[in-house]
Amino acid sequence: MSSSQTNPQAQRHQELCTQLQHHNILYYSYAQPEISDAQYDALFQELLELEQKHPELVTPQSPSQRVGSEPLDKFTSVEHLVPMYSLDNAFSPAQLEDFERRVRSAEAESAEYLCELKMDGVAVALTYEHGRLIRGATRGNGTRGEDITSNIRTIQAIPLQLEHDFPELLEVRGEVYMELDTFHAYNTQREEDGLTPFANPRNAAAGSLRQLDPRETAKRPLNIFCYGAEIVRGTTPATQEELLHNLQHWGLRINTEHLYMKEDIPEVIQLCDELDAQRDQLPYEIDGVVIKVNSLAVQQNLGTTSRAPRWAIAYKFAARQAETTLEEVRLQVGRTGAITPVAKLHPVQLGGVTISSASLHNWDEIARLDIRVGDHVVVERAGDVIPDVVRVLKEQRTGAEEPIPMPERCPVCGAPVEKLPDEVVPRCQGLECPAQLVGRIKYFVSRQAMDIDGIGEKLIIQLVEAGMVASIADLYTLKESELLKLERMGEKKAHNILSAIEASKELPLHQLLTGLGIRHVGENAAKILAREFGSLAALEQADTQTLEKIHEIGPQIAASVVHFFASVTNHEVLAQLHEHGLRPRNPEPRKAEGAFAGTNVVITGTLEGMSRAETKKLVEAQGGKVTSSVSKNTDFVIVGENPGSKQVRAEEIGITQLNEAQLRARVTGTDA
Ligand code: NAD
Repeated sequence: MSSSQTNPQAQRHQELCTQLQHHNILYYSYAQPEISDAQYDALFQELLELEQKHPELVTPQSPSQRVGSEPLDKFTSVEHLVPMYSLDNAFSPAQLEDFERRVRSAEAESAEYLCELKMDGVAVALTYEHGRLIRGATRGNGTRGEDITSNIRTIQAIPLQLEHDFPELLEVRGEVYMELDTFHAYNTQREEDGLTPFANPRNAAAGSLRQLDPRETAKRPLNIFCYGAEIVRGTTPATQEELLHNLQHWGLRINTEHLYMKEDIPEVIQLCDELDAQRDQLPYEIDGVVIKVNSLAVQQNLGTTSRAPRWAIAYKFAARQAETTLEEVRLQVGRTGAITPVAKLHPVQLGGVTISSASLHNWDEIARLDIRVGDHVVVERAGDVIPDVVRVLKEQRTGAEEPIPMPERCPVCGAPVEKLPDEVVPRCQGLECPAQLVGRIKYFVSRQAMDIDGIGEKLIIQLVEAGMVASIADLYTLKESELLKLERMGEKKAHNILSAIEASKELPLHQLLTGLGIRHVGENAAKILAREFGSLAALEQADTQTLEKIHEIGPQIAASVVHFFASVTNHEVLAQLHEHGLRPRNPEPRKAEGAFAGTNVVITGTLEGMSRAETKKLVEAQGGKVTSSVSKNTDFVIVGENPGSKQVRAEEIGITQLNEAQLRARVTGTDA
């Protein structure tokens, strides 16, 4: 029996680590968090307190010891010249006083603090050599980030060339963000284009930086504030303040309007309160104040932990809360039939915005909150546009409140509703449900799928209500004369829509696969399936065993694909699409030759004679696929110096390991 099974603290520690790791991946890698930052911070604090009481529980893998999450596989990963750290948090004046005590105990002299706004965006590293921007990367796991140079180059506020007396080599740190008004305009546009709006400016910035096509990033209104730099070759200034002024002098964008020099922590606390009160007047989202010891020599002496510098702390503002009443619960039906409850609230002002609805997520959440229609509730907005209900004020109940039962019938089409035991949401089972149809078409035309511009939700509803479209295939039968009968439809718009529909007929196969909306098959899985099978016809024939053999395709996706193609209705729709001239482009087949033909390869550690990117290229040129995690589908793990947990995992499941010499030998066909 493992110790975590016997010891409740160890068990809780394990649970917290697993939960936090899960939320880290969703937040950092996919910009799709499931919980609010305040909820995340509460879990993280619990972990820190547990580890403080039980230091024996701390492992190098604990989220308390690490920065962010691993870089995503879809970008080349690059090593930062100097590691990028996170920040420790303070949630109260007392925690700021603790920080000052720690600084003072290490540094007898009094410290001056430079206070900056804590921008709520995405951290990036910009490398400038001889003044030229040579690389832009995300923070990733702190040591390695994703190479997003082409995307970074599209941000107007980032100079491609520095000016004046810049150092020979430096890595600038900054926060890429979206201003609030451009964010709202951008989201409105997305909705008109039939795309899902982003929940908040941070997610929008993170998603925009991770586009595979830089032309797409260029369309997004991104901005940057730089807040630090590591000078690798050149003269380092004496203070943080001087460093920021230098950065500005070299042409980088600094938030000069909000730099505050403070003599001691009581002054800092007062500033934090003032800034908290002003935050809603700012044109961008901030989530706190960053307090930094001004002297770089003192910073150097204080050093860093594995996760954060000891010379800085982030004072996090409390989440914004307000009280109101739950007037009604509306049920939304999505493209997969998922029914989500949305709280309609009595309008209330919260952080400069009028709030009239909040997400209730699902009936597990309704049960957890024990919320009823008519209840007085506390809502919270933690940077998010859609707030959460965090608490019910049960003491204010009158007895007239109504429970919120899970529906037995779909609110739109009246078909029965079913909730599978392993799912959190109930689903409408109606095959002809118009709400599902609208959702499916919206997804089908979206940019990551068939990229048909000009068909937004309002138009789809009109098309469905007018009986002009009863399946995705019907889009291809639309005629200009019919479109012109619709409200607010001019000749130019109709023409553009029909051209976009026509152009979608020859898009790559993976976009069609994404657009079909097969459950669990998102853009990434669609790409893998398209590459592996090469054509729709071949994929239709695949059984679950064949599908599961593919790396990154698990049993859930495999079963869902087989289930999709087994449906007679789906077959009919696919046949109609073919009839209407849809001929998706087949991808280049994976190279069937070479030393790694048809194999899945993971790289860990540093190779002496080759960078990570070069090793990846070599494996791919030899027909292999480089993936980020070791699983039973991995064929080889290439192991360099200082390998990580991937080697341990490879040992555990008995995967063949190759060192650098063995790698070269395999490629050249010689003995190592
Ligand atoms: P952080 O955001 O708390 O602090 C570090 C970051 O602050 C830096 O990397 C930098 O990007 C940024 N920053 C902004 N202005 C700065 C300035 N002036 N100087 C220095 N840095 C500045 O740390 P983190 O590790 O990026 O993220 C942790 C936080 O992210 C959590 O506290 C939580 O709020 C949120 N989070 C949420 C979820 C979720 O599921 N909701 C998951 C993971 C993390």
